[in-house]
Amino acid sequence: MPAVTGTMRAAVYHGRGDVRVETVPVPIAVEGQALVRVLRSGICGTDATEYKAGPIMFPIDRPHPHSGHHGPLIMGHEFVGEIVDLPGGSDSGLVIGDHVASGAGVACGECLRCRQGRTNLCEHYVTHGLNIDGGLAEYVAVATSTLVRIPADCDLDAAGVAQPLAVGLHAARRSTVADGDRVVLFGAGAIGTFILAGLASLADADITVVDFAGERLDRALRLGATRVVPVDDGLKDALREIVGPVGADVVIEATGAPGQLELCVDLVRQGGTILGVGLPSKPQELDVHHLVLSEVTIATTVAHVCGEDMAPSLEILARTNLGDELVEAVFGLDEVPHQLTRLAAGEIRGKVLFDPTRTS
Ligand SMILES: [Zn+2]
Ligand SMILES: [Zn+2]
Repeated sequence: MPAVTGTMRAAVYHGRGDVRVETVPVPIAVEGQALVRVLRSGICGTDATEYKAGPIMFPIDRPHPHSGHHGPLIMGHEFVGEIVDLPGGSDSGLVIGDHVASGAGVACGECLRCRQGRTNLCEHYVTHGLNIDGGLAEYVAVATSTLVRIPADCDLDAAGVAQPLAVGLHAARRSTVADGDRVVLFGAGAIGTFILAGLASLADADITVVDFAGERLDRALRLGATRVVPVDDGLKDALREIVGPVGADVVIEATGAPGQLELCVDLVRQGGTILGVGLPSKPQELDVHHLVLSEVTIATTVAHVCGEDMAPSLEILARTNLGDELVEAVFGLDEVPHQLTRLAAGEIRGKVLFDPTRTS
């Protein structure tokens, strides 16, 4: 197949509230990269924050220290597609025509954390759609090391959420959840749901999910929550009763709401684990006295480890209805600015995807 050249449509971030779907050159894949024809591409809270309050991570005002990218950026770090060019071949046996999901984060493979297998903490980490051009476009040139083949029995809409599910799976691993554990998970939005799916895939645990009453909690019950508890005045007492005097082995904070970590401290068992996922906008106060005397582990989690989390994520999507439950709609690229506005306003309960091959 000859290399694809010419121009393409892409959703380009220029600044706060300014994302334009415009015509740009098709990128050229170099050795070590594949040119991927994008078939599904998603947006998440990170993109919505950049749209509403950025640029924060996006290298618009100054060059990114690792990628060197400076200026308008093609968005999209959650994407799947078909390999259409593979100039240097692939160490992992990928070939032209393969359908692949991208882990988006490109690690150097040589620094200390990379050698320890913690590639998400690479000293030279670069993420497509956050630090270099991404996949909200017809084509993207991606490092082959971040691509994973999509199983034949996994449909494209489901595969479209493989990257955020890998983030949830990584969070679930970081929580050290084990069979028989009592778990409390705060947050049943997209991130919370991916963590729930990760927990359910790793252990046979008793999982209580907390969020505002409604469809999100109904979905949590369908996806493996043992029980759900709506946020209301009686929340603290209800949770105390559920975890009992001993407390919960694992408490996961995935909302970022202020004051929530304090409640986690209140619920966690001696020797248990609190996992911080949500990003509170201000520093939070914690009862360190109690934490120390109870030998509680406070863990955090960021992104995912490509080699560890992407393939299992695709397997989960192939054998469960998680994709159907979460994907609300698939649009053409022209809809990106409008859907970013909706996401930033909290109007999207699950995920929306974009299919750049659609002309309208
Ligand atoms: Zn994301
Ligand atoms: Zn590295």
